[in-house]
Amino acid sequence: MSKISTITIGRGRRRGRALEMVTSLDPNRQVPRPLAIYVHIPFCIQKCGYCDFNAYLYREAAARAYVSALRQEIVRAAERSWAGYGVPSVYFGGGTPSTLAPADLIGLLQLLRDGFPVQAEAEITVEVDPGTIELAGLEALRAGGVNRLSVGVQAFDDTLLQRLDRRHTAAEARRVLAWARRAGFMDVNLDLMFGLPGQTLAAWDASLSEAIAFAPAHVSVYGLSIEPRTPFYRRQQRGQLIVPDDEVQAAMFERAEQLLTAAGYVHYEISNYALPGWRSRHNQHYWRHGDYLGFGAGAHAYFQGRRWENERLPPRYMRAIAERGEAVGSLEAIDPVRRVHEGLMLGLRLREGIDLATFAATYGVALETAYAKPIAELAQGGYVQLMGGRLCLSARGRLVADAVLGQLVAAEDV
Ligand code: SF4
Repeated sequence: MSKISTITIGRGRRRGRALEMVTSLDPNRQVPRPLAIYVHIPFCIQKCGYCDFNAYLYREAAARAYVSALRQEIVRAAERSWAGYGVPSVYFGGGTPSTLAPADLIGLLQLLRDGFPVQAEAEITVEVDPGTIELAGLEALRAGGVNRLSVGVQAFDDTLLQRLDRRHTAAEARRVLAWARRAGFMDVNLDLMFGLPGQTLAAWDASLSEAIAFAPAHVSVYGLSIEPRTPFYRRQQRGQLIVPDDEVQAAMFERAEQLLTAAGYVHYEISNYALPGWRSRHNQHYWRHGDYLGFGAGAHAYFQGRRWENERLPPRYMRAIAERGEAVGSLEAIDPVRRVHEGLMLGLRLREGIDLATFAATYGVALETAYAKPIAELAQGGYVQLMGGRLCLSARGRLVADAVLGQLVAAEDV
């Protein structure tokens, strides 16, 4: 559902028993090494026309079998020693995790608590879609230890929601946000999308204003991206889908920043805003290149310099779990150059950018020297800023972040 659930960089290459290759930490470490956990629920009540996530139509029997496989995968992974680690965040993403019964999600969370050192104050997020959960379900999640919701609102506009093939209405979105409050959730993220077919600047303003009126702790703002192999892509190729042009989309991005920052939100990552003290710990862990495990179909993990991805299709994932207890479909070691590139690309997504001294200590590379030429070119164009020992994207650079990051890591003199 959300673009920030997992970080995907590059392609996997070979299969292996990923967790058998990892080394244990000193169990007496003073400070536990942070290890985030992602759990993928690949079911939705509809397939949206723009969606290229690993998501499939919900079927009760398939979902039951899938939860059983997930439980096996978690129990198996928990067999090795996790002493020395601390889990600061668990994220149930999808798909639409709220298609599962709250008891199933809480049961999975309990298994994680039993098998991994999930910290008492850990951030526990569940993505929910309006129309897939009632007040009682939200109360059950809260009572079961979930302390953060990410609500896929996308727009407070039924016409736009229908154009996206979303099943929910704006009224259902308003209701689930109100229920989240009543259920005791303080930490609520609200997802919004811009650049939608037929969306005007005025319509975008209206959705932003209504989002702000709910005063969620966190707002994620994504531009619609038309991906190959989606119905939207085919419609666009046939000339049947027109989205706002680049200029309007840039104005929408800037409008989000104006309205949200005026309302007290901090634009702390390209697509993310939070009230002070409410940044997403889970996603910051990704952007800081932290280790994480992923459970479920197509889930990614990044751990001890290796990245792996589970079998993507749920039937293949479940078969692999039944046969061998884990479902790694591809695995690769991240070489030092790639590691630097990843650290650079992830770190620059954050508003505060990269602390050059910390980067050099972590990756063994002085960016200001090794990347001097592309940094100078991008700074001259007004896309990055190098000052106070930090490298950051400028406001202009944030508008075209992917291109700027691509130019940096493609530089030949590195
Ligand atoms: S709700 Fe729509 S966009 Fe989100 S994962 Fe499901 S099909 Fe994809």
